[in-house]
Amino acid sequence: MSNCLVVGGGIIGLSLAYELARRGLSVTVVEQGEWGGQASSAAAGMLAPLKEFSSTGPLLDLGMDSLALYPQWAKELEAYTAGDVQLSLDGLLTVALNEREEETLKAKYKWQREAGYDVQWLMGKELQEVEPLLTNLATAAIYSSKEGHINNRMLLRALVTACQQMGVVLHAGCVVSRLAHTAGRVVGVDTTSGPIRADHTIVCSGAWAGIMLEMVGVSIPVRPVRGQIAAVSSVGIPLRTVIFGTSGYLTPKKDGRIVIGATEDESGFQREVTLAGLASILQGVMPYVPALHAATFLEAWGGLRPATADGKPLLGEVPGWDGLSLAGGHFRNGILLSPITAKRMADWIEKGQKEPLSPFLPERFLNADEPSRLINR
Ligand SMILES: Cc1cc2nc3c(=O)[nH]c(=O)nc-3n(C[C@H](O)[C@H](O)[C@H](O)COP(=O)(O)OP(=O)(O)OC[C@H]3O[C@@H](n4cnc5c(N)ncnc54)[C@H](O)[C@@H]3O)c2cc1C
Repeated sequence: MSNCLVVGGGIIGLSLAYELARRGLSVTVVEQGEWGGQASSAAAGMLAPLKEFSSTGPLLDLGMDSLALYPQWAKELEAYTAGDVQLSLDGLLTVALNEREEETLKAKYKWQREAGYDVQWLMGKELQEVEPLLTNLATAAIYSSKEGHINNRMLLRALVTACQQMGVVLHAGCVVSRLAHTAGRVVGVDTTSGPIRADHTIVCSGAWAGIMLEMVGVSIPVRPVRGQIAAVSSVGIPLRTVIFGTSGYLTPKKDGRIVIGATEDESGFQREVTLAGLASILQGVMPYVPALHAATFLEAWGGLRPATADGKPLLGEVPGWDGLSLAGGHFRNGILLSPITAKRMADWIEKGQKEPLSPFLPERFLNADEPSRLINR
């Protein structure tokens, strides 16, 4: 039986570990901090491929395939925990507040309809019917009735419990300091708790994936993009629908919070909330729901999105090394993409199926003319 080592216990590493264990593989996960303690718990939990991706193509297909997996995926995980991961696929509004925004949105609506996606163009009264709390200054919106959100923190908890019950070996508070290798093959890792060896090592270390690959001389850039985000109480503000605008979004959670966000700013690996960041989140969402002025502020936090140069994730084998794969670079959509990433990566690790990963293979960042990018073998 093949034995797998997953580096990084965020949504991607835990989802993959769970999927591999379900298929009967022996799995260990190593996490330097707490389970899901980085980007994955910072996220707003939106499941919104049509909102997020700007054209048809492999990335939108990946997002739609992942969204389709969610109801079953959530149900299965809930069965392990007897808890609710608060999946809500009740629809999402992308809103225009003026003519210029409406024009851009209309163009998006047009290609989405032409490609056969289930979206509606709403104006005036229809818009207020879907979301009575939306400002009457909204001129139009795309309504996507099957997108939505999940409570990503609950989902992470469910994944940890499911992994435990499936016999996955979980090491939290354990830092990987080196990818161990011999004769062109990665054979596991060295950690602050000692060496761990495996047939297949999968790097799922989020914004730190680039640093980890540098350990074996592979230069595939992944950069941290900070997201500052906040929550207010929904008491007195019975928002029904996720609202996206050009300057922010609001996600009404089933646990009594409205999550509002988010900045995209680059400050290395710092994930603190700044006053400027908080001000921009608040100013960004207020115009969409005037009732927010009376909302009780609950908390603000930050996280580091793992970004790639072309906006697509990195899925599959790491070029130049046997026994080493990568699942990362999910940027703004790692929660959305977690079930499909787990499935496609497990198909690769278990059955060698490479083709479905082809648009996302890490090798696209390696220039054949630059052998110096692969060193230290
Ligand atoms: C503010 C914000 C809002 C977002 N909203 C959404 C959203 O609405 N919908 C959506 O789909 N996505 C959203 N995202 C994006 C999503 O959170 C990420 O794409 C996703 O969490 C990435 O998951 P990951 O497991 O790759 O990374 P992470 O969650 O960062 O996990 C990587 C893990 O690797 C560990 N690690 C790193 N180095 C080492 C080492 N040397 N040894 C051991 N462990 C190590 C880290 O500690 C970390 O826990 C949002 C992100 C942010 C910041």
